[in-house]
Amino acid sequence: VTPAETLVHAFRTAVSRAPGRPALAYFDGRLDYRETDALSDSVAGHLTARGLVRGDRVAIMLQNSPQFVIALLGAWKAGATVVPLNPMYKSGEVSHVLKDAEVTALICSDRAWDAYLHATAEAAPSVRIAVTACELDLQTKNDPRVLGFERLPAPGEDDWADDLVAVARQGLAAPEDRELTADDVALISYTSGTSGTPKGAMNSHGNIMVNAERQRTGHPVAEGSAYFALAPLFHITGMVCQLAACVVNAGTLVLAYRFETSVVLEAFTEHRPAYTVGPSTAFMALAAHPGVTPEHFASFQVISSGGAPLPPALVEKFRAGFGPYIRNGYGLTECTAPCAAVPPEREAPVDPVSGTLSVGVPGPDTVVRILDENGQEVPFGEQGEIAVRGPQVVRGYWNLPEATAAAFPDGELRTGDIGFMDAAGWLYVVDRKKDMINASGFKVWPREVEDVLYTHPAVREAAVVGVPDPYRGETVRAYVSLRPGATAEPGELGAYCEERLAAYKYPREVEILTELPKTASGKILRRELRSPR
Ligand code: ATP
Repeated sequence: VTPAETLVHAFRTAVSRAPGRPALAYFDGRLDYRETDALSDSVAGHLTARGLVRGDRVAIMLQNSPQFVIALLGAWKAGATVVPLNPMYKSGEVSHVLKDAEVTALICSDRAWDAYLHATAEAAPSVRIAVTACELDLQTKNDPRVLGFERLPAPGEDDWADDLVAVARQGLAAPEDRELTADDVALISYTSGTSGTPKGAMNSHGNIMVNAERQRTGHPVAEGSAYFALAPLFHITGMVCQLAACVVNAGTLVLAYRFETSVVLEAFTEHRPAYTVGPSTAFMALAAHPGVTPEHFASFQVISSGGAPLPPALVEKFRAGFGPYIRNGYGLTECTAPCAAVPPEREAPVDPVSGTLSVGVPGPDTVVRILDENGQEVPFGEQGEIAVRGPQVVRGYWNLPEATAAAFPDGELRTGDIGFMDAAGWLYVVDRKKDMINASGFKVWPREVEDVLYTHPAVREAAVVGVPDPYRGETVRAYVSLRPGATAEPGELGAYCEERLAAYKYPREVEILTELPKTASGKILRRELRSPR
């Protein structure tokens, strides 16, 4: 089978194969493939009528809703490049991206539009088109308006935004001259900024399709299965491993607005999904929910974790408690999500020395090298920077030639992650280069300490950072949150690590927090814990 060039092509194939199958499921509502196709055609027709031309940027700032998918397909059908935006972004963050990507059209929730995006868009010189969508409030999830698509608040007088649902229901035809190819830029994905200012990685349609196909063959489930969107669609994991993977398999994408444990568990019961991919923190949260039972996971054939470290203790606790084995996968925005995964029928080994769980093996046509500081490859088992070359690696960052040259010498991505490869070809991610703690000249990788903390029965989440220390230069500090109903003293957790780790590694300071700070895609933000609060 020749992979489709773009997700729009793959979507059309699914429409012809299963026109009446639900493409999207959202609480009590369903939209089949044919309807979703027609609604997104109309969005494309509308954007075109408003003057959008091929290659223009369309920013989409919505939660996991049918509106997101309709807007996305519509923008692509109009020939645009999509800039997904985190719906939690505030005015300054949005304004930076609108200006940086020279966005022509903004599609966002009507509530955010009324509250602050109207003013933000007015101030961005390139934005000429605005479309707003009535988004769900979780409390009103059974409200028929959610899929009945009626606008809630009346637009203000000076409001120049059109309503997405009205636009989608106009029945306009998509333009015929905007066909995209594998080489066109599908997305400008701004990295989540865990390590600094967001940079816009340019994911081509070809990059997306390669990884969508790999999800289909590497994590096989029956055609037409239900895929649960656990990760947000604005993040590359959600976009590629969930939405794109679902479309190439003509599946049903189950959406639940945003991650909220009880709502997610209810949706598992209602939709019986076969497949999901999310950050490890989502599985920690689900496992800690008081009402969770193995029955919630009974329908799953594939549960995969990616985008953040997966503690081996979580994999085991999850399997013992609920049944499924969580498959690790390693990826970055710059690799259009995964570049390594655990092959079907296999389980990831744990490195006997460090206790790190492997992230899998590099995908087909993907070459992973481990490099020393001079860019030379190191022998098996030795640590170095992970470098990736393959058909999923982006060409570079939008408008940043210097950052592109530094991160992609000769087109090979330098990930900024430290890792190693064993003789059998399994890849291990040690940690981020920038997160290394230097305690009296000793290297401490926070991950190793966190993995030990995760084996403690009371620990729900753990994050380890280096803090300035007058004697050691840096010292190791751990932040943890506890499982519901569990108790532990900071000193007890420090001693637990001291018994299991070399003297320079165990945390000298432990602080217990109710919740650790996270990005919207669910990653624990060590950066925020490092800066003085
Ligand atoms: P920024 O680049 O702005 O800091 P970000 O790196 O969080 O944002 P992503 O591209 O979403 O943006 O994250 C990729 C990073 O996530 C990888 O570089 C790696 O550090 C981490 N990561 C991904 N998968 C795994 C995994 N399975 N195990 C350990 N770490 C992982």
